[in-house]
Amino acid sequence: MKRVTVVSTGGTIASGKASDHSVVADRKGAALIATLHDPLDGMAVEVDDFASVGSYALDLATVYQLVRCIAGHLERDDCDGVVVTHGTDTMEETAFIADLLIGSDKPVVFTGAQRHADMPDTDGPRNVADAIRVAAAPIARGLGSLLVFEGDIHAAATVSKTHTARVDTFRSAGYGKLGEIDNGVVYIQRRPERRVIADHGLVEGIELVKPGLGSSTAYLDFCASAGVPGVIIEAFGRGNAPRGYADAVARLVKAGAIVVIASRCPEGRTLPVYGADSGATTLQAAGAIFAGELSAIKSRLLLSALLAAKADRNAIAEAFARY
Ligand code: ASP
Repeated sequence: MKRVTVVSTGGTIASGKASDHSVVADRKGAALIATLHDPLDGMAVEVDDFASVGSYALDLATVYQLVRCIAGHLERDDCDGVVVTHGTDTMEETAFIADLLIGSDKPVVFTGAQRHADMPDTDGPRNVADAIRVAAAPIARGLGSLLVFEGDIHAAATVSKTHTARVDTFRSAGYGKLGEIDNGVVYIQRRPERRVIADHGLVEGIELVKPGLGSSTAYLDFCASAGVPGVIIEAFGRGNAPRGYADAVARLVKAGAIVVIASRCPEGRTLPVYGADSGATTLQAAGAIFAGELSAIKSRLLLSALLAAKADRNAIAEAFARY
């Protein structure tokens, strides 16, 4: 008998129509299990109601508590794996934090729904059943934190929500899924490298700046004057930025911030190739670190965890170089 703990946090999967016709998270974990279509033979499922909120309303402190809650269940001998039901909006972020901070080999599987629980064609029950099967599967051990949706299994480090409403929203651009669940059977086609770091919590206040063509440096200068601990710039292409950004990065670094350059392209790595006018080589000369293939939102979380662990600039650059 495999034993899986379902930690319920809210999201569309736990939502229904409120009296004002908006969609609100109001269901607990037991309600999600009660709607499963088929029996899960050979599996015992317990529920832990952590929260009942839309994932857009979560904050880093709450997500860190959630990660500690998941890790606590995994430490138990009578728990073989954990499923986390979560809103889709920020699921890839929470899953990535769990991937970074939880060293257990037991599966941690995030899932949710795009169609709420009162819709006749809600995708929640199938996703939950698939996620439980993955959490109980010996083949899914050692893969880090996973995201299961619409029959696909994705790695937390690479997956993104790509469509606002469709049920096949999650994709791992440039990598593809790790595997799938077909007719109740779990298949794993590839195994990602694990990059767990020491858990010292998460630092708040790292800002994410997304410039467009010809954007000003005003927000970067605000960040320097506000003394923020770090700034992620979601730059163009290979990691280039609008004119003036290299000087603004130098001012930020002088003010004590760690600056990381990610790309707005969904595929490919940032690399200092272009020179002059805030091309990536000038950002590097100004003291910026490059995020490799890690997305800007996940770079923000990695930097948050590294700064909490008191990593110095070299250790931070080494950690990003692994992506
Ligand atoms: N659209 C979201 C969801 O699928 C809302 C949320 O992230 O909570 O759950």
